[in-house]
Amino acid sequence: GSAAVLLASSPPMDPNRVVRFAMICQPGSAVARKLLGDKILLPPKLLTGLLGRFGRDPLPSPMVFELRNKRARRISHCGVLEFTAPQDGVAILPDWMFENLKLKPGESLIFTLRPIPKLTSVTLQPLRAAFARDVKQPEAELTSALEKYTCLTGGDSVKIPVSGKEYTFRVRKVLPSRGNRKLPNAGCIINTDLKVEFMAPVHPDPQADQEETKAPKIEKKRIPGDVETKLTGERLSGMKISDVKEAKGKMCSVCRKDIPLKSFALHEMQCARLNVWCDKCGATIRRADVPRHKHCEKCNAVVTPEQYEEHMLKVHGPVTCECGATMEAMRLEAHKSSECPMRRVKCKYCGILVVHLELEPHLRLCGGKSCACRVCGAEVPRRKLDAHLAAVHRINPSLVQESKELYDPVSLDVAKATAASLGQQYR
Ligand SMILES: [Zn+2]
Ligand SMILES: [Zn+2]
Ligand SMILES: [Zn+2]
Ligand SMILES: [Zn+2]
Ligand SMILES: [Zn+2]
Ligand SMILES: [Zn+2]
Repeated sequence: GSAAVLLASSPPMDPNRVVRFAMICQPGSAVARKLLGDKILLPPKLLTGLLGRFGRDPLPSPMVFELRNKRARRISHCGVLEFTAPQDGVAILPDWMFENLKLKPGESLIFTLRPIPKLTSVTLQPLRAAFARDVKQPEAELTSALEKYTCLTGGDSVKIPVSGKEYTFRVRKVLPSRGNRKLPNAGCIINTDLKVEFMAPVHPDPQADQEETKAPKIEKKRIPGDVETKLTGERLSGMKISDVKEAKGKMCSVCRKDIPLKSFALHEMQCARLNVWCDKCGATIRRADVPRHKHCEKCNAVVTPEQYEEHMLKVHGPVTCECGATMEAMRLEAHKSSECPMRRVKCKYCGILVVHLELEPHLRLCGGKSCACRVCGAEVPRRKLDAHLAAVHRINPSLVQESKELYDPVSLDVAKATAASLGQQYR
């Protein structure tokens, strides 16, 4: 199962429901992914869990998680890029987030899915003087660079690429403020008319600029799970020859057992007098049982002379399937499970059993009914949901197909109400 444990949630239908879980975090560089902005990768199983948790309601969009590093008492927020993280229970974060959250690769964060307000204004303070010197139109450049970001959190140190170079900014002030002393001020910046203001750099000394270009100090660590395989591999290759159990006897040609050398000659003589080796089934047969140990020429089953007639009729005789096809009795089961036009198959949309012959017209009808996308709330015909998930949300639908609820028709009123409660326009 997944290492992500859903710790708490308020009852269903509550638009402010809280979904919270702990998850191990690894930097994008550990899986060779350069993640831009503040969007993370989560494992596909988590999406399945969220879909189950939200039932018939659409998932919040944009999806914003509060990230809490309890040990370092740091709180930030992030968006979600894709549900394609390669390992269950492990989230992949942009490298810069580790410095910002004072987190080491392989440590875990508490994730809380919660709606946050839209920001109207943000005040950023560049760490170094280089930003003001290099970038000629800071407001315009930064506004376009921030399109890769979902949200901003007061007090954060955010790395933002501007015209090909990364600059670090302190988030000094965000408006409107949340008015909650326990939580930092934070807000969503998607589809907002964000006003960006600047303060003088933290380090006005241009000499200190050199530090900025240094490579990020993130230790590369193996994702847990790889470690076990590695250790086993080492143990195996380090094994000494003497550890391998040596054969101390010889194999009897009749019973194929390993017989100690000192008693071998006597054993084989006695064994051959009592037993024979059946090369049709690889069993040692007592000579007395040989007349009753016969193999069916058609299926190799052991059939006694008395059973022979019944066996030929029941196993190899002709039978007629409910579809009208006639075949050898032993093939009927395979025919019914994979070939028979009358076999019952499950509709991938509604889950009911349909005769295979009628599946295509059923799928056309059933797949034409519309459902609301659980991620963005858009109304899509069920048949096109896979393509929508792949194209718009980069979710591999085969990974979430175990969740039949994906195709459940959702009330559009509920979708609109949820979107409105999050301050978003229903798409
Ligand atoms: Zn033997
Ligand atoms: Zn046999
Ligand atoms: Zn047979
Ligand atoms: Zn049939
Ligand atoms: Zn159906
Ligand atoms: Zn969608």
